Amino acid sequence: MRPPSVAAPAGSGAPTAPDGLTILYRGPLASCDYDCPYCPFAKRRDSVERLRADRAALERFTGWAAGRTGERLSVLFTPWGEGLVRSWYRRALVELSRLPHIGRVAIQTNLSGRTAWLADADRDKAALWCTYHPGQTPYGRFLGRCRELSELGVRFSVGVVGLEEHLEEARRLRAALPSEVYLWVNAAEGRSYTDEEAGRWTDLDPLFPYSRYPHASAGLPCRTGESVISVDGDGTVRRCHFVRTELGNLYDGSYRRSLGPRGCPLQVCDCHIGYVHLETLPLYDVFAGGVLERIPASPAPAFPAPAAPAAAPPVPLLPASALPAPAPAGTAAPGGPARAAAARRTLPLLPP
Ligand code: SF4
Ligand code: SF4
Repeated sequence: MRPPSVAAPAGSGAPTAPDGLTILYRGPLASCDYDCPYCPFAKRRDSVERLRADRAALERFTGWAAGRTGERLSVLFTPWGEGLVRSWYRRALVELSRLPHIGRVAIQTNLSGRTAWLADADRDKAALWCTYHPGQTPYGRFLGRCRELSELGVRFSVGVVGLEEHLEEARRLRAALPSEVYLWVNAAEGRSYTDEEAGRWTDLDPLFPYSRYPHASAGLPCRTGESVISVDGDGTVRRCHFVRTELGNLYDGSYRRSLGPRGCPLQVCDCHIGYVHLETLPLYDVFAGGVLERIPASPAPAFPAPAAPAAAPPVPLLPASALPAPAPAGTAAPGGPARAAAARRTLPLLPP
């Protein structure tokens, strides 16, 4: 397997890897304008009060990030629901992208909303991780949104969940997208693939073998907890979205003394936003310059794909007392198994 040869889109003045501190932010927002039956979250209808709390939390976070002028920061918003239908997420992307100490600011999105607002962002830094959900949006509309992003020179990747019923739509999308746009495929949660099935998806996404199997991660060095952290709406810092042990709080600075190299306390890591940071995988090189928004380097270096979860020897780590206790894995990024019934939700509104 060779990673795809994908040219970075216009406006890619990217560093090869996120430097400084990378933050995965997930606030209280949990509603979405789509209703994918396979969605492991976003099944809640946020009240107006919760939306206000989400906005306040996000504004607190962006205020903190804006003030950290002595530190290089990169941010990926990974909301439980859809953020870009909310003005405060759009505003956060635009404002953070314009700050000199922000290396990259990206968000996971279903791309249901308009895109023109991105013209106000620094498009060297703002980026989108877009998921196409067949059954939730007409193919033509989704493709049209991708075209808008290309015309604006916005960095973006596009992906689908690797379900058989998505295959033809994914092929159609791949054929229609500009060759420089990377189309990723996520293995459906709980689904195993025969070699023949995996081959069909790998034809579309040469990096699919990285998603096909969960990655054995127990005790292996992972950049999370050192140069990558997860932050929630209260500012609680964890190493990643999947390990619940708290490292401190962002706003009182208590997280800083907890940062350091540490092994993964879980048996496996099966979500791209997690295992991309595993030091035993070559994904910082594969995605050099586009780790957060999942855009491979151009030209992409060639690496052998993992055929199955492989264990590697543990490395020297923080003392056991400093290691997070094992905790159940959390959830995956938007995109799990199954087929969607078309339905667009009406969402409560807040003033911009
Ligand atoms: S999978 Fe994504 S787009 Fe679909 S309902 Fe969940 S959050 Fe919304
Ligand atoms: S669960 Fe994944 S992201 Fe979290 S520490 Fe383990 S390998 Fe790293």
